Amino acid sequence: MTQTADQTLAIIVPAYNEEDAIPVFLRVMTPVFDDIRASGLTPRLVFVNDGSRDATVQAIAAADWPVDVQLLCLSRNFGKEAALTAGLAHVDDDAVVVMDADLQDPPELIAQMIAHWRKGAKVVLGRRTDRSEDGPLKRKSAQWFYRLHNQISSIEIPYNVGDFRLMDRRVVEAVNQLPENRRFMKGIFAWVGFEPVFIDY
Ligand code: UDP
Ligand code: MG
Repeated sequence: MTQTADQTLAIIVPAYNEEDAIPVFLRVMTPVFDDIRASGLTPRLVFVNDGSRDATVQAIAAADWPVDVQLLCLSRNFGKEAALTAGLAHVDDDAVVVMDADLQDPPELIAQMIAHWRKGAKVVLGRRTDRSEDGPLKRKSAQWFYRLHNQISSIEIPYNVGDFRLMDRRVVEAVNQLPENRRFMKGIFAWVGFEPVFIDY
């Protein structure tokens, strides 16, 4: 893949009542933005405010971001799936990362994701090998979910993979072409195909 100076990476962050998380997000992401630039991509942020009832918007506006920031505001709380859908519909960057505001997934992985993308991967997934931070009930229910889903559906959702991922713009375009308006993003991401590369953590 040829590397041009103005290739961009959009990081889409759905945000619902995340006023406390935003300053932490800024602090943790600042070195990550440097890593992304070092890998030849210009990072930018796309926040989707999903009808927050707190000062999420003000917190985003008040922070001193070292990157371009776009803020999309949904008219009410629609849920994370809808927020992601809105974010994906608004980006035309070369690569797109989807991640949560609460930094539950390690953003340091983004640099590795970019490295796989540079080698031709169209989808790079973060895969949790350790769910010990989840309670036993959440772990059991997650296990049931994947097992049940994959028994009844011909489209397999990879185990322990959340929405944290990097997608090439071609994949984003494929996702954006689907007409579903009540979306289950894990399923949609799997449905559009493209062999994923996994990064375990
Ligand atoms: N989120 C959202 N709308 C909602 C609920 C959550 O946009 O109605 C966002 C939230 O701000 C966070 C991400 O989705 O960035 C994941 O939310 P959460 O951590 O609550 O979910 P979980 O970790 O349980 O998947
Ligand atoms: Mg979370």
